[in-house]
Amino acid sequence: MSDLLANKPISVSVGDYLKAIWGVAGTGWASTNELSERLSVSPASVSSMLVRLPKMGFADYEPYHGASLTERGRREALRLVRRHRLIETFLLEHLGYPLTDLHDEAERLEHAVSDEFTERLAQLLGHPRRDPHGDPIPAPDGTIEEQEDKPLSESETGCRVRISRVEHKDKAALAHLKDRGLLPGKLLKVQEVRVLDGVVTVENEEGTPHALGNLLAGSIFVASIPESDGRSGQSKPA
Ligand SMILES: [Zn+2]
Repeated sequence: MSDLLANKPISVSVGDYLKAIWGVAGTGWASTNELSERLSVSPASVSSMLVRLPKMGFADYEPYHGASLTERGRREALRLVRRHRLIETFLLEHLGYPLTDLHDEAERLEHAVSDEFTERLAQLLGHPRRDPHGDPIPAPDGTIEEQEDKPLSESETGCRVRISRVEHKDKAALAHLKDRGLLPGKLLKVQEVRVLDGVVTVENEEGTPHALGNLLAGSIFVASIPESDGRSGQSKPA
């Protein structure tokens, strides 16, 4: 029964709200202000949409508290996220789109394609687990890999990390990271995390240093590499 309901197309705007609530809070509560900021619309418009979502069965809403997705709303949000991330992968790998242009095009297309198209796309792409920015692609049943990473800005001096994903909504920041090769999969050594102004200095595998301000260091998510993983090259003499 729920599958039949879930297959009824929802409007672009409802879909964007469901994704935004999931993006801000997962299955927790997203406040009106957080949603207003994320969607770049006024708090009044957010409230008028949030009042409607419970009637559609997608979310619970409490004035002054915000909205929280129901299981059905979460499924719907993740269905769109799956489409979005597969489309981004397709645009990069098959249509030659620049990394910085994937997101906007995927935002438009995700509302236009069917589940059938999405699954054929997944098959064409070889069922990728991550999109080009390193974000996990939800499975068709709505499950998604847990993220075990943290922003580079929260790393400790001296540790070795691997870039797991990069924020990609800010085009200028993404272009900067791309130009410097700071993309998912890259290994870095954290040379300094300056408390004073949040500037993080890292060195890549070729020994090139990069100083990254707040915005950039907060846009890169990293996973630590255990000391036993000898991929850094020379091991230090004991
Ligand atoms: Zn995107």
